[in-house]
Amino acid sequence: MNKTDIKSLTHEELQDLLKGMGEKPFRAGQLYRWMHEKLAASFDEMTNLSKDLRGKLAENCTFTALKPVCVRISQIDDTRKYLFELEDGNVIESVLMKYKHGNSVCISSQVGCRMGCRFCASTLDGLERNLTPSEMLDQIYRIQRDTGERVSNVVVMGSGEPLDNYDNLIRFIRLLTGEGGLNISQRNVTVSTCGIVPGIRKLAEEDLQITLALSLHAPNDEVRRTLMPVAKRYGLNEVMDACRYYFEKTGRRLTFEYSLVQGVNDNLDEAKALVRLIKDQHGHVNLIPVNPIKEREYVQSGRQAIEAFKNQLEKSGINVTVRREMGRDIDGACGQLRKSFIDKERKEGE
Ligand code: SAH
Repeated sequence: MNKTDIKSLTHEELQDLLKGMGEKPFRAGQLYRWMHEKLAASFDEMTNLSKDLRGKLAENCTFTALKPVCVRISQIDDTRKYLFELEDGNVIESVLMKYKHGNSVCISSQVGCRMGCRFCASTLDGLERNLTPSEMLDQIYRIQRDTGERVSNVVVMGSGEPLDNYDNLIRFIRLLTGEGGLNISQRNVTVSTCGIVPGIRKLAEEDLQITLALSLHAPNDEVRRTLMPVAKRYGLNEVMDACRYYFEKTGRRLTFEYSLVQGVNDNLDEAKALVRLIKDQHGHVNLIPVNPIKEREYVQSGRQAIEAFKNQLEKSGINVTVRREMGRDIDGACGQLRKSFIDKERKEGE
């Protein structure tokens, strides 16, 4: 019999489970609080539940508790990069970034990724598997417990394509932002996608107040296809329509992410084309100086090129920010830490 992944259950589902075990309804509330509010790392910590019940739970359920295998703390900005081991031995990474407005955690949504974006380290070895809702939650729970500081913002911008793991993503968001857990405001949750059109449209209809970030990285299909294989499946016309639909349905302004790669997507004509592409959209542009990975030849645009690109957008009335690079000294880019960890293990194994 398959064991139940207990930390992925809603409060109602937990009630049903406990009822089936012959327990009183209030036990579900206690258990839910232990997991999602007190962030317990095991059934043993739940001291107001009887030993008998804890035993029954351990017998019938799996309890997701990520094991930190490594934490790197940036000397520059105190960004913390966590490498967690999952029950099956896979490793994933999460990042804690400290801002004036609060602590933000960037989580992974999959082990690896199958989207194949050329500049991204997370996708080099393909997709291993989807993360469960509890594995997404526990990245945040472990970090909040480790630092003792409240996490106020969550961005699903780590390894993986969240809309390629749709159902688990939605359940994760509801548990994260619902009552009785960390209760993080939906407005403080951002989901970043490479542009899976049916996923964006479906997300628009979930009645959520989260922010959608679209990885654009090019103002036309021709350049976009050289950077992102997904662009061969969904053209920009379709993608931009889906973004408009997202705004109409949710009223939430979008973020358009644009990683600047020298000589690939960073000239002023491209900036002007970007303006034309998004000028009737409700959203702003986040420019990301590409973080070079050793497996690829891509180079970060120079400071002047970045400034000029930014000015061109601003001149046209587009809201734009340049992403501050955080944790550059600790393999800060998507999937880099996990990749170097796995490569090292492989070498040692040989
Ligand atoms: N799969 C999702 C979320 C993961 S990555 C997506 O594609 O949006 C979060 C953002 O970082 C994406 O915009 C992604 O394209 C970008 N990114 C990944 N690797 C990068 C790198 N080496 N340099 C700059 N941006 C990168």
